[in-house]
Amino acid sequence: MNLCDRETLRALLGRHGFHFTKSMGQNFLIDPDVPAAISAASRADRTCGVLEIGPGVGCLTAELAGRAGKVVSIELDKRLLPVLAETMAPYDNVEIIPGDALRLDLQALAAEKLPGLRPLVCANLPYNITTPVLTKLAEAPCFESVTVLLQKEVARRLAAPQGSSDGGAFTLWLQYHMETEVLFDVPAAKFFPAPKVDSAVLRCVRRVKPAVEAGDEAFFFRVVRGAFLLRRKTLANSLAAALPEMGREAVQAALEDCGLPPSVRGERLTLEDFARLAAALRKRL
Ligand code: SAM
Repeated sequence: MNLCDRETLRALLGRHGFHFTKSMGQNFLIDPDVPAAISAASRADRTCGVLEIGPGVGCLTAELAGRAGKVVSIELDKRLLPVLAETMAPYDNVEIIPGDALRLDLQALAAEKLPGLRPLVCANLPYNITTPVLTKLAEAPCFESVTVLLQKEVARRLAAPQGSSDGGAFTLWLQYHMETEVLFDVPAAKFFPAPKVDSAVLRCVRRVKPAVEAGDEAFFFRVVRGAFLLRRKTLANSLAAALPEMGREAVQAALEDCGLPPSVRGERLTLEDFARLAAALRKRL
């Protein structure tokens, strides 16, 4: 069955009485080249166990099953389970897990369902859960890589070069754990129903060790988040608001210690800059 053919999809979903739910980010791919390209971009092979989030009717799942040792797919919408039972019947290396990817322990799931395989993630993510799901995946050290289709603008932001104005605190947090790269764009017309915005494939590869020596990680990320708290203000103003226990003068002195001009904005700093700044701030705490 060609799961990306619009008429086949309509007939399949009609037979199961399925209607799309916007709040679950249900936009299914309708160009077979796209799931094939995303699956190839994951670089999965038979030694890999792939975790997929949101299989829909299974067009990407089927592509992944052709490459990986095993595919475990979490689907929130119970109405899709009988559809998947039909479409995934030919694949003996696919297991569908009913549930919410945000509530499940993904590391434990990978350990239980993908033993002896190298766990990685590949998915066409529901737009509304992009940030919490990427957070969960980056925090689960077992996943070597995460290859996901998401909103183009979000993908660009997460792969923005450090020190450019395109990123934010979450970009830096993600890049601390993983190397990120936008691989290719997917226009809205390649989905049914078509979303309002275009998408892009982001590939994140886990770093052997974090990008910088952060020292006290909790304090380091307080500083990073604090730098973006008042985004239109200077770094000194934003940090003074975010770290009220420090006082403005101590913040300014720490910036000086690091050779950062008083007018600098948080978005101009790289992870290296933040590591030096967090150390300087801690000294003055
Ligand atoms: N993989 C299919 C494709 O590429 O055509 C469907 C992708 S569609 C963008 C997102 C899918 O994620 C839907 O099947 C939706 O029901 C499911 N979903 C939404 N929220 C979820 C969650 N919290 N956990 C697991 N699946 C979820």
